[in-house]
Amino acid sequence: MAIKGGNRNTAKLLMERSVPGRMGSVLPGLDVPPHPLPAAALLRDDLPLPEVSEPEVVQYFTGLSQLNYSIDTHFYPLGSCTMKYNPKINDEVSFLPGFAGIHPLQPAEVSQGALELLYRLQEFLREITGMAGTSLATLAGAHGELAGVLMMRAYHQARGDTARRKMAIPDSAHGTNPASAAMAGFEVVTLRSDASGNVDLNALHELAGPDLAGVMITLPSTLGLFDTQIVEVCRVVHQAGGLVYGDGANMNALVGRAKLGHLGFDVVHLNLHKTFSTPHGGGGPGAGPVCCGETLLPYLAAPVVVQDSDGTYRLTAPEHSIGKVSGFHGNFGVLVRAYTYIRTLGEAGIRAISGNAVLNANYILEKLKDIYHLPYDRRCMHEVVFSADWHKARGVSGLEIAKRLLDYGFYAPTMYFPLIVPEALMIEPTESETRETLDAFIQALRDIDREIADNPEQVRQAPHTTPVTRLDEARAARQPDLRWRP
Ligand SMILES: *Cc1c(COP(=O)(O)O)cnc(C)c1O
Repeated sequence: MAIKGGNRNTAKLLMERSVPGRMGSVLPGLDVPPHPLPAAALLRDDLPLPEVSEPEVVQYFTGLSQLNYSIDTHFYPLGSCTMKYNPKINDEVSFLPGFAGIHPLQPAEVSQGALELLYRLQEFLREITGMAGTSLATLAGAHGELAGVLMMRAYHQARGDTARRKMAIPDSAHGTNPASAAMAGFEVVTLRSDASGNVDLNALHELAGPDLAGVMITLPSTLGLFDTQIVEVCRVVHQAGGLVYGDGANMNALVGRAKLGHLGFDVVHLNLHKTFSTPHGGGGPGAGPVCCGETLLPYLAAPVVVQDSDGTYRLTAPEHSIGKVSGFHGNFGVLVRAYTYIRTLGEAGIRAISGNAVLNANYILEKLKDIYHLPYDRRCMHEVVFSADWHKARGVSGLEIAKRLLDYGFYAPTMYFPLIVPEALMIEPTESETRETLDAFIQALRDIDREIADNPEQVRQAPHTTPVTRLDEARAARQPDLRWRP
């Protein structure tokens, strides 16, 4: 595959720069007795390695590392799964030798500092969600969901309430929700949204019977909306004997202001790699802690850290725990980052996150809704979902608008999700971007709208400036071509 962008020193593959005899390093002279070579059958006659200078190697790989968009190089408005602000201090703290070098099998006596950090983080997250207990052992959002629904199942089973097989999930939900419920053995039923984007209460009443195990609700919903009837939703489910699961992957609209536990949720997972600042992407390490209310406390995933009356910390399992959900105690490095983030911000800082996240998203909403169709015209939370259906009618799709944004130096928004919005463009500015960045992004989307009128081909053929243009995305992910062949 040819790569554009010669200015970044990647246009020519390393192998193609090879010049016979050129060297990047010089080996020291032999000062030990030579060792006889292995049998000839084990040796290769020829090993085609690039013969290049050291600066060429450095320029080539540095160039490659800069081909991707990242939060350290670009504004990243990807909705729902945004890589949020990741202060570098978090990394520094997690690299401290006492944290980085610790082994999970070290006895508690010599791990008191690490256990104290985990304990305090459990307490912070419990407080932030308004719950009764926290387990940090789950390694991703979807993993937290699975643990949470297994806890719901354990609760119903302990009461002999085995007819509760149905898990109701809104049609706007993230795909992991139905997957987790199905993995835990539940039958997934779809819960309609109403015209304003809230859970349809009539639909909920129809499902709220003796076979309902619970509902899984994302708040704010993936439409970026706060369900104004959420307290009633929880009441209806509880009255029918069910439990309410909260998908708290993206909590930066609520932190410091609203607590899911106080609204009626029984269990919630958080994505530390979305809301609590761990770099997110490339499938790297994450953490999806589960927080639960009193009802589910005995079933909480193990291990949890407790503090004894003499002040020491130890790991334990709640009485009827669903058991261990990962090898050890969670992704410790991620947990250290989240702890550092919360401690650095403090209560006022945490509250400022949600204030700014919601303000920034609504700023974009107001500045664009005259030219980008806003299917749910109400105040949004941390993200705003537009539809490009007006543009589609003019011959340019949401995908093409997103691709054109790359030419303007912005990463693309989330596209075509949630599924109930045709041509969805889901934009999440995050709490940490400046007014100037938001204005430039808004201007880019206005300029693209103008281009669609004046020169639609320009948009349809985009991107024009990226190293590669339109990929077969599924094939690129499943059959990556990573080998150089002469
Ligand atoms: C990202 C996300 C998840 C899943 O989190 P992973 O860590 O990717 O497993 C679940 N729900 C919502 C709403 C999300 O945005």
